[in-house]
Amino acid sequence: MNVALLKELAEAPGIPGREERVRDIVRREMKGLVDSVTTDAMGNVIGRKGSGGPRVMLAAHMDEIGFFVRHVEDKGFLRLQTVGGFDARQLFAQRVLVHTRKGESLRGVLTYATKPTHLLSDSERNKSPEITEFFVDVGMGADAVKERVSVGDMVTMDRTLEEVGDCLISKSMDNRVSVFVMLEALRKAGPLSCEVAAVATVQEEVGLRGAQTAAFSVDPAIGIALDTTIAADHPGGTDAEAVTRIGQGTAIKIMDSSIISHPKLIDHMRSLAEGAGIPHQMEILPRGGTDGGTLQRARGGNVCMTLSVPTRYVHTVNEMIHRKDLQATIDLLALYLEHAPEGDYAL
Ligand SMILES: [Zn+2]
Repeated sequence: MNVALLKELAEAPGIPGREERVRDIVRREMKGLVDSVTTDAMGNVIGRKGSGGPRVMLAAHMDEIGFFVRHVEDKGFLRLQTVGGFDARQLFAQRVLVHTRKGESLRGVLTYATKPTHLLSDSERNKSPEITEFFVDVGMGADAVKERVSVGDMVTMDRTLEEVGDCLISKSMDNRVSVFVMLEALRKAGPLSCEVAAVATVQEEVGLRGAQTAAFSVDPAIGIALDTTIAADHPGGTDAEAVTRIGQGTAIKIMDSSIISHPKLIDHMRSLAEGAGIPHQMEILPRGGTDGGTLQRARGGNVCMTLSVPTRYVHTVNEMIHRKDLQATIDLLALYLEHAPEGDYAL
């Protein structure tokens, strides 16, 4: 497995609307894997391959949750606008990178407006902070900050991908792991029996926006969104609330709050996995959405589902995936691309 490529993808900064660094990697990798690569006005990268057979659109979002600089204070501290759903409880004592117009990446401390713990009263200590109270300190005087940082600069979490036991952890596994899956499945698949449009989408984390326009222009018969999903198989919840479990295989999504996957596509995917002995699990996610939600409803609708990589600690800086689940997702997607026309999806 090409962990170096996944590491490059995960460590690249790219909040919604500012996916350019990830986009460059995707375009570089797609060359040679597909027949043509185009980029639309939103920034979606569309790689097309094969002809004849049903048109299958894959959608893997490139963006990560992050921040824009909203305001530079007189003392040089940076106030933030979140883009995507952060959990304030996970933002304590973090380092971030501020990506300036001049192309610098300034390291900073992300913290919230409070006194050092020694100085807090009991009631102050028990108060949980709002996300709007967080700010960034880049360790420079106000004049230097104002010269380099401006409103609208992108701020991302400062974390690297590391191999831990049987797993990989990083910021932005959601959803660079699926961008990686899409590329590796194209690399792995034998002769295609369908026309594939592999789309690295933008702005998923703020409402599935890029997939909406890409699905309109691609106009697929079949849509497969690729994303991470919750694996809450760790202390904190019950077994029934786990959604998926890492190490148990790729997750075939039955539903989340954005999509109810096509029942016959689910069956087809499940049969392929069973036939080839690819580890898989069925997933129901009570809350949360994926590009599948907008993809399914493009134009007159299409046969659609989401294939997920089980992920612990989603939307933290240590999103954890299991190598086995990653491989299973690549294997099943590649197999599907070889067998797409065999599906009978008539209802
Ligand atoms: Zn995602």
